Amino acid sequence: HAAKAKELRGKPGSTKDGHHIPLLANVGKPADGKTALEYGAEGVGLFRSEFLFIGNAEPPSVEEQTKAYAELLAQFPGKKVVIRMLDAGADKPLPFLTPEDEPNPALGLRGLRTLRVHKEVLEGQLKALAAADAQTEADLWVMAPMVADAHEAAYFVKLGKSFGLKKVGVMAEVPSIALMADQVAKVADFVSIGTNDLTQYTLAADRTLGSVANYQTAWHPAVLRAIKLIADAGNANGMPVGVCGEAAADPDLAVVLAGIGVNSLSMTPVALDDVRAELANWTLEEAQEKAAKALNGEFYKSSWDD
Ligand code: PEP
Ligand code: MG
Repeated sequence: HAAKAKELRGKPGSTKDGHHIPLLANVGKPADGKTALEYGAEGVGLFRSEFLFIGNAEPPSVEEQTKAYAELLAQFPGKKVVIRMLDAGADKPLPFLTPEDEPNPALGLRGLRTLRVHKEVLEGQLKALAAADAQTEADLWVMAPMVADAHEAAYFVKLGKSFGLKKVGVMAEVPSIALMADQVAKVADFVSIGTNDLTQYTLAADRTLGSVANYQTAWHPAVLRAIKLIADAGNANGMPVGVCGEAAADPDLAVVLAGIGVNSLSMTPVALDDVRAELANWTLEEAQEKAAKALNGEFYKSSWDD
């Protein structure tokens, strides 16, 4: 099994009947690009840019940021690299940006909401990304976290393009953006679904709280139905929809996501072998049949049942 998985490493992610589902890597710092490539990632689906900001008393300079982004991009000439804008707040508080007195930080100032009130940070990061893009040959996609609807998506896309970025999209982590997916698909170049937060917010269960950890599973049919709303809107409008949350790293769930109509999957590099191997066992039609069952809740077991 492990041997077979390794054998597939040089090949792109694909169903048994040859439908290409690019398998990308989640990375946390530029040096991790090497690990991603070793595991056969076809690109980067989520670069969490927080590492540049965490542990510092103030935001990094545009020059510092440009250097870090260029270091990542230079490892992926001709390949897709999705960089996420700073996701400060909630489970990733930053002393100089995140208010300390929020009663519910997950429902507070985080992600794009934080960037909007700290415009100098938002614009500095966009400037650095555009500069790094100009220096390198990767196919750079830039997205914002914690976007609630098409208004916020339009705001970010317009701003990103004004800095010269070519592909600008949003993460889907809040149920409201799934409900408005048809409108979002008209303004964003792409959507990447963050199933960790989408699960937290769909089920109203804090992802950091052990007492409600049972809710933190994207196998819940409500989460899968939210994902389907986004995938359907994307496919109807020719807008790529990926998944970059933990759900993509579960081989069985990855098959379901492909069956729902998600176009690419991004995960921690060590998960790539198993996901690639499992996808290769299913035709697209079989994956769609499995997805229909999953959307009906057939694979979900509530902790309230005995
Ligand atoms: C997510 O929410 O699924 C995600 C990919 O982002 P993070 O885990 O960094 O919040
Ligand atoms: Mg998130």
